[in-house]
Amino acid sequence: MDATMAARPKNEQESAPGPIHIIGGGVAGLATAYFLARMGRATATQVTLLEREEGTGRHSSGLNAAILRTAIGQATTRRLAEESAAFFKSPPPDFCDGPLVNPTGLVLFEPGCEEVLAARTACRALSAEEAAALLPHYATRGRRAFHVTDEGQLDIAALLAAYERGARAAGVTLRNKCEVAKITTRACRGSGGGAQRTPKRKVTGLELADGETLATEAVVLAAGGWAGLLGGGAGSRLTLTPKRRHLMVSAPDENIDPTWPVAWSDGDGFYAKPESGGLMLSACDQSPVHPDHCTTDPAVLDQLAAKTARHLPAFADAGVASFWCAMRTFAPDEHFRIGPDPDVAGLFWVAALGGHGMTCSPAIGRLAANDVVQQAAALRQLA
Ligand SMILES: Cc1cc2nc3c(=O)[nH]c(=O)nc-3n(C[C@H](O)[C@H](O)[C@H](O)COP(=O)(O)OP(=O)(O)OC[C@H]3O[C@@H](n4cnc5c(N)ncnc54)[C@H](O)[C@@H]3O)c2cc1C
Repeated sequence: MDATMAARPKNEQESAPGPIHIIGGGVAGLATAYFLARMGRATATQVTLLEREEGTGRHSSGLNAAILRTAIGQATTRRLAEESAAFFKSPPPDFCDGPLVNPTGLVLFEPGCEEVLAARTACRALSAEEAAALLPHYATRGRRAFHVTDEGQLDIAALLAAYERGARAAGVTLRNKCEVAKITTRACRGSGGGAQRTPKRKVTGLELADGETLATEAVVLAAGGWAGLLGGGAGSRLTLTPKRRHLMVSAPDENIDPTWPVAWSDGDGFYAKPESGGLMLSACDQSPVHPDHCTTDPAVLDQLAAKTARHLPAFADAGVASFWCAMRTFAPDEHFRIGPDPDVAGLFWVAALGGHGMTCSPAIGRLAANDVVQQAAALRQLA
């Protein structure tokens, strides 16, 4: 995957195919719509984003921890995160009104990503005294920690609004309360022969839950935890697993300093950061769920209490201000799925973003939009 924002496909200026439909108004769909619009596609052809809810960002993209962290073990994902961090720090002039990142910093306890962190300029190992000063209530004693100074918290509402505004301004149509029931396909003539893998089916349109049908040439599947079900129904062999994760925000407490950095213990699966006067806490739980049945499990509060007692003993008995869950969706190898489906022509995936979809969204949107545009001519020629 090419991870440079500057790269533009040679055939970017070629004529577009018929209508393009994006399913899902989370960060994946919105970022793809924004970059398609930026490439001039929304004026050259009809780009429509279909979202089932009353508004965009109502699922994982609006319910996450909003942490910008580029120290990621997987090299490909890390490169996308680094490209995206550069975008957030210096977005296009008309993208947003204020900063997208609040660089409160991250303190990452080992084990986890030490080699990546050691190579960073805006990162250094902390002495025990420095760690204790940065995180006065955290159990830092005897634990090696790294301080990443230029990352921290993302302004999710501003980011989603910026993608949406930019997409709309350049001609993308957004339809909320619009549920896609089925992606329709037909068999490709002459498929299946030869050594090269050719698509077996081609996308023809969409059936909506209210009975409306839409003809289309390209479908961008950005439906988060539901993407696997929709893709499977269209004949794709890609399997995705949505996994539930909980977040809790503790009751407001005047001892909590809103400028504290995010503290993250990969080894124990725990992170904490200031939020709404309290602390946002996660036990990094992950259990597979059906996307229609992602509801909170009170037992996770016990796990969280045990981990909080270990890492933040002063807050072990903090009250619960809010507690919720959402889905992180994974492919079997835990890599993102961005690009055309090998079996279904006209079907493009922007899914399986796991726990990094917000951080990597500019790079994800750019890659997805490039793929759709690059394949446009080939799609039209496919019988
Ligand atoms: C607890 C938690 C914490 C996280 N923390 C972070 C973090 O700190 N940093 C980070 O980078 N990432 C984080 N993530 C990951 C990030 O939230 C996801 O990677 C990202 O939101 C995925 O975006 P998405 O657009 O693929 O999915 P979603 O946001 O779920 O969007 C999918 C959309 O598709 C719509 N849809 C589904 N089916 C249909 C249909 N049939 N018709 C029409 N619309 C449909 C849904 O309504 C939804 O709006 C976290 C995730 C969780 C769960």
